[in-house]
Amino acid sequence: MLTSVVEPPRRERPAYRNFRVAVARVERLSPTFVNVTFTGDDLADFGTAGLDQRVKVVLPLAANGFASFPDGLDWYTQWRELPGDLRNPFRTYTVRAVRPEQREVDIVFASHGDAGPASAWAARATPGDEIVLIGPDEFGAGRTVGIDWRPGDVDTLLLVGDETATPAICAILESLPADATGAAFLEVPEEGDRLDVRAPDGVEVRWLARGAGQAEGDHPAAEHGSLLAPAVRDWVVRHLADLGVTRAGTDESAAALAAAERADLPDTPLWDVPAGHSLDGACYAWLAGEASVITGLRRFLVREAGLDRRQVAFMGYWRRGRAELE
Ligand SMILES: Cc1cc2nc3c(=O)[nH]c(=O)nc-3n(C[C@H](O)[C@H](O)[C@H](O)COP(=O)(O)OP(=O)(O)OC[C@H]3O[C@@H](n4cnc5c(N)ncnc54)[C@H](O)[C@@H]3O)c2cc1C
Repeated sequence: MLTSVVEPPRRERPAYRNFRVAVARVERLSPTFVNVTFTGDDLADFGTAGLDQRVKVVLPLAANGFASFPDGLDWYTQWRELPGDLRNPFRTYTVRAVRPEQREVDIVFASHGDAGPASAWAARATPGDEIVLIGPDEFGAGRTVGIDWRPGDVDTLLLVGDETATPAICAILESLPADATGAAFLEVPEEGDRLDVRAPDGVEVRWLARGAGQAEGDHPAAEHGSLLAPAVRDWVVRHLADLGVTRAGTDESAAALAAAERADLPDTPLWDVPAGHSLDGACYAWLAGEASVITGLRRFLVREAGLDRRQVAFMGYWRRGRAELE
């Protein structure tokens, strides 16, 4: 008589969960960028979908590390109920690479001094340091949660971002098919921040350095985000037909729209990722970085260049003068 093995019912795994990890290696890639490689047995199950996959980086408390950090699935509710001095700070980052066989995950931090806990932590990260990542489970329900790159089947791709979006843009560029066409604009603090990245021949990659860290007597550094608007406009002018639009405004209108955004931003997150819309034939634009800069660029593309807003994903990755909301 045949006997059959009855599998116990599988508990559904969450899409996102905690991974306790330690720093394996730290590599300074450029004056601004530092790549931190995390390791941990659990990372064998970390989600590999890549692209602009976002994760939370939970940082240790000076007093007790992670002793008070809740482990369960409802960690956020429990964390919010803790007294302030027992709440570990956390910030949002993008996964640059995942190697489940080696149980490793890379995250590239853009340094901005000691102004925030994440940047300060990354500047001092040392092999053996422990942190918690909250990220996708490869075998969880909905492993693409936290991915906002959704270009559909379009002909032309446009990626625009500052140094905080550089890791995501690099990961997206490396994922594109060989026949992809479009452009990527990456504004970074210094000339030395141009990173090596593989991109299809048909995708123009432009690094725009603000000129921070120059020798005394050189021109002062450009304002954050100020190089993106004219570069994007220039590209739009050269590609009107590919984009299916007939106008592109002026340099002044692009810069003015960007500057106007700096004045008065609402408190709500500046984030809009069109979903479920079938894009075909046209252009898909993905914009991420400092909120006012990105909002201004989106307005330029939609109001001046006439792109359908459903073709433009924009994500405020951080806000000038404000810590990330937790
Ligand atoms: C989905 C998503 C993905 C992201 N991916 C990455 C990534 O891969 N790499 C990365 O480096 N960042 C990334 N960021 C941005 C990062 O989360 C923020 O820069 C975050 O504020 C850093 O935390 P902090 O503790 O250093 O500073 P906070 O405590 O949040 O802020 C302290 C001060 O520093 C300012 N500030 C924050 N970031 C910068 C900056 N880059 N330059 C200058 N001033 C700044 C704030 O305005 C504030 O005044 C991402 C953000 C999001 C939402």
